[in-house]
Order: sequence, then structure tokens, then C-alpha cells
Amino acid sequence: MNQFIDLFRQDMNIFYEQTKAFYNGELTKTQYKGISGGFGSYAERDGKANMLRLRLPGGRIPKNTLAFILQQVETYQLDTIKLTTCETIQLHHLKPDTLFHIASKALDFGIICRGGGGDFPRNVTVSPLTGVQKEEYFDVMPYALAASDYLLSFIHGPKLPRKLKVAFSNCPENVPHATFRDLGFTANKDGSFDVYCAGGLGNNPKFGVRVAEHIAGEDILYYIHAMVNLFIEHGNYQNRGRARSRYLQDTLGQERLIEAFQEKLSAAKQDPSLKLSVSPISITKTGNGTITNDRIIAQKQEGLFAVSYQPIGGLISPQTLKAISDTIQDMQEVELRISPFEEIYIINLTADEAQKVLDVTKDGATTPLEHSVACIGASICQQGVRDSQSLLRECIEAAKASNLPANAFPQIHISGCPSSCGTHQTGLIGFHGGVKLIDKVPHPAFTLHVNGCDKQGSERMGAQLGVILQSKIPAFLLDMAQAVVDANMDFVSWFNSHEEDFHKIAEKYLV
Ligand code: SF4
Repeated sequence: MNQFIDLFRQDMNIFYEQTKAFYNGELTKTQYKGISGGFGSYAERDGKANMLRLRLPGGRIPKNTLAFILQQVETYQLDTIKLTTCETIQLHHLKPDTLFHIASKALDFGIICRGGGGDFPRNVTVSPLTGVQKEEYFDVMPYALAASDYLLSFIHGPKLPRKLKVAFSNCPENVPHATFRDLGFTANKDGSFDVYCAGGLGNNPKFGVRVAEHIAGEDILYYIHAMVNLFIEHGNYQNRGRARSRYLQDTLGQERLIEAFQEKLSAAKQDPSLKLSVSPISITKTGNGTITNDRIIAQKQEGLFAVSYQPIGGLISPQTLKAISDTIQDMQEVELRISPFEEIYIINLTADEAQKVLDVTKDGATTPLEHSVACIGASICQQGVRDSQSLLRECIEAAKASNLPANAFPQIHISGCPSSCGTHQTGLIGFHGGVKLIDKVPHPAFTLHVNGCDKQGSERMGAQLGVILQSKIPAFLLDMAQAVVDANMDFVSWFNSHEEDFHKIAEKYLV
């Protein structure tokens, strides 16, 4: 990775110059976005500050990385820190000087923001508990980290048609959505991977096409190389709206896509240097004692535990970030993992340590609704249409005020626009932001998606049922919750057994 850091450091001047030009009014937001995205940064909606996205391969945050991030948060008094569904951290509201300082220091530290936005290979995502999860087939993290390093080699070209997202899942739970990414590797019980390509959420979402089965882990770079070359040769450089790799399924057809992938794979296999050798990540720590709590996960390592912590809306406060960092500082082999559900797992804790971490993370989600996924939304994101975070807050407040039981409400997925940063097609209930014209007057509204599923082998994209005005969504959730209570069930059981009742309630709110 070090060779890239020097290379990317040389690029930073472009970022500085173009950022200055934007803030001097010499570039439009769109012109600037085309450049700054390649540095993991976008101007925010009001054009007065930037977001910086920290690439964290596999969503891993070792203790020293956490300390580095905290140092930036404290030095520059940052107040908005967002965990993303792509297992990164976004720092918001950065004035140009602050942006330059943090981006530059991050690179020196080894956090590469280059290619964190724009048409580049993005952060590699991973099942967040890989390496410690009892149910996993094997630890996929070493492969994901090797893939991440290799993907950095494509940042200086050749130019891709659009972004490229790569994911590794360790079991059919499919938390990082490896079966519907641009390229996904799914673990098998025998220690091999199946490979899926040309999938993705957003407009016209598609599940990936399985292009290989039971490949050896040492061969993954061949598949990445093949995918990159396939995308370059067959991708759409003319129309950005149809440039993501999933559109290859339309332009080539699935059969030809598989054939074309195999051709690229055969060519890639001529290069023996892409044969990979990875070392397993060993955990030498031993635990003792036991602990139980809704947020505790017993690891496959006897006596060690993970604590889950979901800041509501994926917005972690500087205070909690500091409390976690201070608490784990002297704990051996402890690290954080970000999940695609915008939560954090603190792993490799003894029972005593886990209790300490539980104590400093009490401000997180405790109900299914609070465990919802929401993108940063249109109050900050220039591409957004609706403010996902405010919808989530409105729903949580309405649920609290109703005094109905917490398990009568669903976990929801909210995206501020069709781009699906809130993964709205993957949950039982999802919303994406839009506008509804009523008597020629625009009203804030969201499209309702229902019955999505991300589990491998049972994948379903949530079907679009119609549009609900934002102001009516809390009432819609309350109406469903009352029906759930009347049926003496929890939301998931009710939803799965009361389809007709669900549709009757939804009909009342669709406009
Ligand atoms: S889904 Fe839309 S509004 Fe939300 S972060 Fe992505 S682009 Fe922005």
C-alpha cells in the first residue's frame, strides 16, 4: 500500500487547487464534484463545506485508527460523523482548510481517501464479524484486505465507466450484499468462494450474475482483474445513468456476460504475479468469564465477546467516539468493525472488557425502529431529494409517544433519493425520497418499498408499492403497529402472515 500513498500524495495538489477554485466561485458544484469525488470528498448541499469519506478496508478500525479519527474530531471540533452502509466513516461540515489538513494527515497515517467517491474502486466491504463469528464458513478478511490493496492499483487508470464496489461475505447471512455488488465473493463451507458480478442497488437494481463457483481464495485477484477489464471494455462511458456494471446484464445479456467474464479471466490468468498468498489473522488473546446482554455476541474464540453499538441514524457523537477510544485503549487486540447497517462492533473483548464497552455505549439503538438504516440525506447531500435523517427522527418520536410496544414497529431502510445509500430495497420496509405533486403543488414524499431480503439464496428486491407523503409516514407506522398489537405478535411475524392487512393499511396512505 505504501507505494500508493506516495503516488496519491502527489495528486493532492489537484485537490487543493480545485477545492480553492470551487470556493472562489470558479467551478460549479457539478464540475467540482467530478474532481473532488476522486479524493473521497463532495461539497455539501449548501456549498459552504465539504464531506470527507475515510476509506476503511473491510470496515476495520484498529485502535490507532480510532485514535487518529478522534484526534481530528477533537482538533477541528467536528460535530457530524456518519457511519455509512459501505463501511466507511464520513466527516461532515469541513471548511476547506480543515478538509486539506485532515485529508493530508489521513494519507500520512495510511487512510486513503483517494477513490472514495467518483468512478473508482470503492471501499471493499466485508461481513463485519468475520474472523470472530461462530456461524461463519471462514475468515474472509485477509482476502478482502488483499483485494483492497490490489484495487488501489486501478485508481490511476485505466478509467472506469463508473464506481466499482467489491464485497466479501463469510456466510449466507450476506450482510455486505456480496450477491448484488459490482463484484462479490461469497464464502463456501469448503473454504472456497463463489463469485457474483454486475449486481447493485439504486435505480434498476439487479442481483449479481454468478460467474464462478468454488474458486480458491488464492485466485481472487484474477477475478478482480477480469471484472475491471470486462467493465472497461463493455461499460457505458456515454451515459452515466446507465454506466454502473449492472447495466451489462441488459446490454450483453446474462449468457454473454458470463462468457465475456470468462474470456477476461483466461487472459488475467496469464499473469502468475496475481496468485495470492494470504496469512490468516490470528487472535492470540484468551478470555475468561461470561456475559449476556442483547448487544453481546459470543465469539467463536472461547471467552471472547463482541459488543454491538448502533448510533441512531449512523451518526456517532464525538463524546461516544472518545468514550469508546478511551475505554479500549489498553485492551489487547480489540478493534472496531463498521457494518453495512451503520452499526459498530467492538470485537475481541473479555467479559469484563465487554461490560466496560457496554457501559459507554448506552446512547445507541435499543428498538427495531431505532436500528433503522438512514443515509445522511438531502439536508447535507447535494444529490439528495429528501432528508432521511429527519424522517427517521419523526418516526422514532411518534413511536415513543404512542406507547405501543417497540417490537410492533419495523426496522426501516431510508434513502434520500433513488441512489439507495440507505439500502431501501433490502429490508421488509424501505423508503426512498422524492416529491409528489398534488394539484400542481410539490409535497415532500417517499416511495414505499416492501418485502426486500438480502439473505443469500432468498434475495428479493423490495417491491415499490407507491408514494406516501413524508408527513403521513409516522401515522402509517403507528397504524401498522396497532394492527401488530391487536394480533398479539411482533412486527416481523405479523408482516409475514398478514399480507392482506398490510396492504389495506398501506392503501390508506398511498397517494
Ligand atoms: S441515497 Fe441519495 S440522498 Fe442519500 S446519501 Fe445517497 S445520494 Fe445522498
